[in-house]
Amino acid sequence: MKASEYILPTTKDDPSDAVVASHKLMIRAGLVRKSSAGLYNFLPLGYRVLRKIEAIVREEMDRSGALEFYLPILTPSDLWETSGRWDRMGHEMFRITDRHKLSYALGPTHEESFASLLKPILKSYKDLPKNVYQMHTKFRDEIRPRFGVIRSREFIMKDAYSFHLDSESLNDTYELMRKTYRTIFKRCGLKTIPVQADSGSMGGSGSEEFMVISPIGEETLSICPSCGYSGNIEKTPVNWKHVESDSNLKLEKVSTPKTSSIEDVAKLLEITAKETIKSVYLVTNDGRKVLVFLRGDRELNEVKLNNHLGSSELRNMSDKEASELGIVTGFCGPKQFPKELISLYDTSISKTSSYVAGANEIDFHYKNFILNRDYPESITQLDLSKSEQNDPCPSCESPLSQEKGIEVGHIFKLGEKYSKAFDIKVLDKQGKSRLVTMGCYGIGVNRTMATVIEQANDEKGIQWPISIAPFEVALVSIAKGKEELEQVEKIYKYLLDQKIEVFWDDRDLGPGFKFKDSELIGFPIRITLGKSFFEKKEYTILNRKTNEEATYSFQNEKELLDLINSMRVKLFQELEA
Ligand code: ATP
Ligand code: MG
Repeated sequence: MKASEYILPTTKDDPSDAVVASHKLMIRAGLVRKSSAGLYNFLPLGYRVLRKIEAIVREEMDRSGALEFYLPILTPSDLWETSGRWDRMGHEMFRITDRHKLSYALGPTHEESFASLLKPILKSYKDLPKNVYQMHTKFRDEIRPRFGVIRSREFIMKDAYSFHLDSESLNDTYELMRKTYRTIFKRCGLKTIPVQADSGSMGGSGSEEFMVISPIGEETLSICPSCGYSGNIEKTPVNWKHVESDSNLKLEKVSTPKTSSIEDVAKLLEITAKETIKSVYLVTNDGRKVLVFLRGDRELNEVKLNNHLGSSELRNMSDKEASELGIVTGFCGPKQFPKELISLYDTSISKTSSYVAGANEIDFHYKNFILNRDYPESITQLDLSKSEQNDPCPSCESPLSQEKGIEVGHIFKLGEKYSKAFDIKVLDKQGKSRLVTMGCYGIGVNRTMATVIEQANDEKGIQWPISIAPFEVALVSIAKGKEELEQVEKIYKYLLDQKIEVFWDDRDLGPGFKFKDSELIGFPIRITLGKSFFEKKEYTILNRKTNEEATYSFQNEKELLDLINSMRVKLFQELEA
């Protein structure tokens, strides 16, 4: 490809609405242009990258035995009503009405479509297992589209859905997808870590997210530097080892005026938040009222609570609702509450240690409150707190650290949620009709592209891994006059004939400009044929990743080709390492 015939709208300045490197660089390098909030046009250079990522994903999915489909984006509402998601999806789903007043959604995901498509096709255990996928546009009306194509409203996803006779078979495919995903991301030059993720509200039994550690990540991960455990903090169990204490401090009711927050009461009594018990009052989406006690310094993990209660959303209880249940807001402590209030205790609270707890009376707290002694009723104690930095690792007990991460892929054991909803049954070996069990597996293609840039850039621009670079080789010529240009063209044509993916910057521009553009766009290999080439037959090759440039003397085209090829091989090998 010749730059003079290409569309290459590179810019020097960062776009004003971009805050992260990948977004800035994708615009500046002319890979994408914003259309409107959360919508991006892919320009030829950017689209080449996207197609290369798709090709890698497709190759690896096909290798795993998955079968590619192509389904409509427009999905009728009755599919979503069957699964109960027409309501549950809320505002994230783009909805459309046709001329006959029938409702549709622009598919944000395709569990329902694939479930209804495969239901009449899968008849016997002999038809299982099957893993089906597509690489297609998805629509999600994200509340906050941001970071360019990392969180956009229209994007390409590879979504796969597997169907099985039993959980053993599901586990096998899940493991295979896990391996496949690692290979896919590795081939894209992306370092990912699979982390244990929450799967509760989707009704599944296992789930892992493929995360890229990045300061701009929207997820927080617990990582164990010792044993390598990694989990989304939503999911990470917090294991408490309380030491029994036999405190004989006397329970004491103390006046604590105007101390409705943990901070205030701790300050007044000159103690730390750790020495207090706090309470959180919430209402579930189905109207159940819940009171949770935690150690004063810990935060409630709503995902864990939702999983325990089987609810999908929580809101704060109003003062009125709380007082109707006998909760003295700001001064609530353990006591017998009416049955309609579910009260739960986080395992951060030791039953034998003494705490400051609310006295269920305005402006009063108890000092030296010991659960076992002062509230010996049977209580439900569970792990309901958010994992924190330095908490013991759930597998080896070393202190955990925390990192931010971007989710690029997600694998999920769905179980029977959709097969039940769509009544997908097959005949087993004994001729008995059995519900199938399912898995689903997603990769964000555009998000993967942007995330690679987050990991591979420097002050000059992008440093594409060779596997997904828009072109593998940039040929920059600084030629004066027709004759010099023809010499370069001969080399360019030779390289093209030899199937080298070469982008020739033949534009009539100064060298500085061309070098800057090639570095901004980030071609992995750059050949420069400049003044010394025409004078002394010397040329240079730049490795954009290391920014090392070496000079060679030109013997013939074949030798140049061999050099390029050996560098290509090396760059591909580095991805596999
Ligand atoms: P997130 O928590 O980031 O919203 P999600 O859990 O909604 O992601 P999934 O439903 O699991 O995502 O979708 C599978 C993959 O699709 C994600 O791992 C991600 O790579 C990609 N993806 C999801 N939402 C978007 C979006 N708005 N823009 C770009 N890619 C997305
Ligand atoms: Mg989402």
